[in-house]
Amino acid sequence: MAAHDPVEQKYVYDFAEGNKDLKDLLGGKGANLAEMTNLGLPVPPGFTITTEACKAYLTTGREPDGLAAQIEAHLESLEREMGRRLGDPDDPLLVSVRSGAKFSMPGMMETVLNVGLNDRSVIGLSNQAGGNDRFAWDSYRRLIQMFGKTVCEVPGEEFEHALDEIKSAKGTHNDLDLDADDLRGLVDAYKKIFAKHTGREFPQEPREQLDLAIRAVFDSWNAERAILYRRQERIPADLGTAVNVVAMVFGNLGPDSGTGVAFTRDPGSGAQGIYGDYLANAQGEDVVAGIRNTVPLQELEQLDKTSYDQLLGIMARLEEHYKDLCDIEFTIERGKLWMLQTRVGKRTAAAAFVIAGQLVDEGLIDLDEALHRVNGAQLAQLMFPRFQLDHEFEAVAKGIGASPGAASGKVVFTSARAVELAAEGESVILVRRETNPDDLNGMIAAKGILTSRGGKTSHAAVVARGMGKTCVSGADELDVNVPAKKFTVGDHVVNEGDVVSIDGTTGKVYLGEVPVMPSEVVQYFEGELDPENTDDALVRSVHRIMTHADAARRLRVRTNADTGADAARARRFGAEGIGLCRTEHMFLGDRRELVERLILASGEREREDALAALLPLQRADFIEIFREMDGLPVTVRLIDPPLHEFLPPLEQLAVNVAVAQERGEDVAKEEALLAAVRRMHEENPMLGLRGVRLGLVIPGLFAMQVRAIAEAAVAVVRDGGKACPEIMVPLVGAVQELETVRAEAERIIAEVVGDSGVEVLIGTMIEVPRAALTAGQIAEAAEFFSFGTNDLTQMGWGFSRDDVEGAFFWRYLELGIFGISPFESIDTDGVGRLVRIAAEEGRAARPGLKLGVCGEHGGDPDSVHFFHEVGLDYVSCSPFRVPVARLEAGRAAITTTGSDSR
Ligand code: ADP
Ligand code: MG
Ligand code: MG
Repeated sequence: MAAHDPVEQKYVYDFAEGNKDLKDLLGGKGANLAEMTNLGLPVPPGFTITTEACKAYLTTGREPDGLAAQIEAHLESLEREMGRRLGDPDDPLLVSVRSGAKFSMPGMMETVLNVGLNDRSVIGLSNQAGGNDRFAWDSYRRLIQMFGKTVCEVPGEEFEHALDEIKSAKGTHNDLDLDADDLRGLVDAYKKIFAKHTGREFPQEPREQLDLAIRAVFDSWNAERAILYRRQERIPADLGTAVNVVAMVFGNLGPDSGTGVAFTRDPGSGAQGIYGDYLANAQGEDVVAGIRNTVPLQELEQLDKTSYDQLLGIMARLEEHYKDLCDIEFTIERGKLWMLQTRVGKRTAAAAFVIAGQLVDEGLIDLDEALHRVNGAQLAQLMFPRFQLDHEFEAVAKGIGASPGAASGKVVFTSARAVELAAEGESVILVRRETNPDDLNGMIAAKGILTSRGGKTSHAAVVARGMGKTCVSGADELDVNVPAKKFTVGDHVVNEGDVVSIDGTTGKVYLGEVPVMPSEVVQYFEGELDPENTDDALVRSVHRIMTHADAARRLRVRTNADTGADAARARRFGAEGIGLCRTEHMFLGDRRELVERLILASGEREREDALAALLPLQRADFIEIFREMDGLPVTVRLIDPPLHEFLPPLEQLAVNVAVAQERGEDVAKEEALLAAVRRMHEENPMLGLRGVRLGLVIPGLFAMQVRAIAEAAVAVVRDGGKACPEIMVPLVGAVQELETVRAEAERIIAEVVGDSGVEVLIGTMIEVPRAALTAGQIAEAAEFFSFGTNDLTQMGWGFSRDDVEGAFFWRYLELGIFGISPFESIDTDGVGRLVRIAAEEGRAARPGLKLGVCGEHGGDPDSVHFFHEVGLDYVSCSPFRVPVARLEAGRAAITTTGSDSR
């Protein structure tokens, strides 16, 4: 478009021309520098080159027409304002060149300071600073170092080496002990390093320095690390980055100068106060680089009270303006304060809740906005047990928090050893360089997984998240030696059997067993902590925001629970019913034998006997659950898995039979079982004889379950209780299947219920794609639909979940085929479309059709928003996810103009 546009596109904005809402165009840093400028805060003048310019450059490989001239014009007006020209040998203007995308991104180019210095202007700079040679040469050596490293890819270590050498020659560790001559010598050394690696001299022309630096920022958008980060964080690849050119101010002019960073509240806990670090006589990244010891910001009060008070005033002003926690970067040049950056600051999950509550108290935001500012992922994090950390435990390594939780155990290096030790009842942590599908059994057996390589989408990370298992990946300080059964980290050697602890939220690795403490948020949900009467700011805030979410949400939240105990806990967590009560566990344990009898039954009599024996057991289970739910709806799913899952595995049976025959024992029963298992073997059991198909093939099976449900409800009601059963038929693909089951069920229910007043609904799962596509027909025979999104995803994608997650999902994630596993978060375009079609066509055929979801997606934040939008009545999820779903359902229901909080 730009090439043919009669009016030239505007690619460069002075700070006075922008504002904080222009992050798309000016990047986060540029938009906020503009905002601060317009607030009248002391920001050094400068301008921002837009993301549009970057995008044009990246698509065509050259700077767009007009950009050079616009930069020239803005540079000229900057020079006028400052009364200096860029790189003027006598009185130079220097600038910084700073990247700044919409979202802050590791891997993007870092800042280049002091652009405009060369062999001549370094003298001019010294004169400007009243003959401060040391300062001028220090600034120059920093330019060559930063320019070399970030613009020309000269290895940074070489510069650091040269610096260390000079320091050790002088017998010091402190750069402040280097004098002007030392630094002049260092500039020479740096120039040689530069020339050696780039094949050219360090550019002396100031404008060339500027242009090369700008171009390097553009190019860094496509640096490998940046691309990887975007994929992981699901940041679109086509946003581009802006470039900020800012007049330099100097924190390295002497003891009355310095540089610092600060937060307006504690980003760890949310507590009010001032949190920051200050370093006198320093420039730029020295503060965070840990080169010298910083002092707590509070000490600035002694050093420079005027600047300190001014800074506090500005921080208060920023909080009030942004209505949120801000972080800032500032520099003091000879007693004058300059603001170099601000943004709404990152914070921990706990701080997010605490701060949102505080801001409501302070009248800065309302409860809707507070709800918008927190999210379900943060709440979920706060519900995990945490390590109880004190000074005794210091992390020995930090990797990526790939799957949350806190796990301690004995180190093992192979899948086989993990399985062995776990079988002995030990907790183990499986440590690998990286995992692969062969490690699956070990991963299942382990309490946690620790790898030294790979990111959030590595095999280990993806599989661990799928299993809900704690995982730290990419702890690259670990040197893992599997054959030697040990790893080393720093000076420590950790052998097989030694205990380590890993924190899947922070990515930290500890030696030894760190004690675990329960989450206070869970204690609150359990009713063990009174939110009105605690000094725990987090609990008070969580309570307040949850209460608001409950009032705001339209979606109901139910739970998946198979036992009275689960149901009771889920109710404490706020569940408003059971959306999925699986009946298969009721066929396990000592009831397995009855199921075997059912399967092996040689005639109608034997089968009926087995079913008759199962009936009272099932009835008792349902009575317990109905009592616990006390009139809340309970959706009971009729038996779903293939029956051979209740029989011993083929190999084991075959061995048993062979051994028994050898001994001459009577093996009639085992032989019959073996024959049954052989007969029932399926190539694709997930697509085989299961769900409604079982009910249609095995006479009396569903009938027994329906009778048990109805009788349990009647028993509870006769006892003065309440019961609202909903019978759910799994795996229906055609309305005829459902009609057949329904006819029999209605007959039984009518017979059992009589005049007890009990009402039983009959509905179906929508989990086969055909059911979704024929929902209009199916709704004729169903009073409710419950979307089984796990199976719908399996069958919609043709993925066998148990196989694919371990086998190749990491690769799909790496390639960006999906940004997140479709089993974690619903694939709205495909599987979600099936849900949408079924909801619309089902409701069209039967207004008032109840719609819910009972897959694991019911507790996934993004999916909850989708289900809200599609108009479902409820989501159902595991008890621990119930609060997360309540919160997200509330967030989905409110609309705010709030800012993007990434
Ligand atoms: P990052 O995105 O890594 O925070 P910045 O662009 O903020 O990088 O630059 C890092 C640091 O460099 C700043 O915190 C500040 O200390 C210093 N800096 C940047 N621009 C200037 C400038 N114009 N004058 C003085 N210091 C600057
Ligand atoms: Mg910064
Ligand atoms: Mg299913």
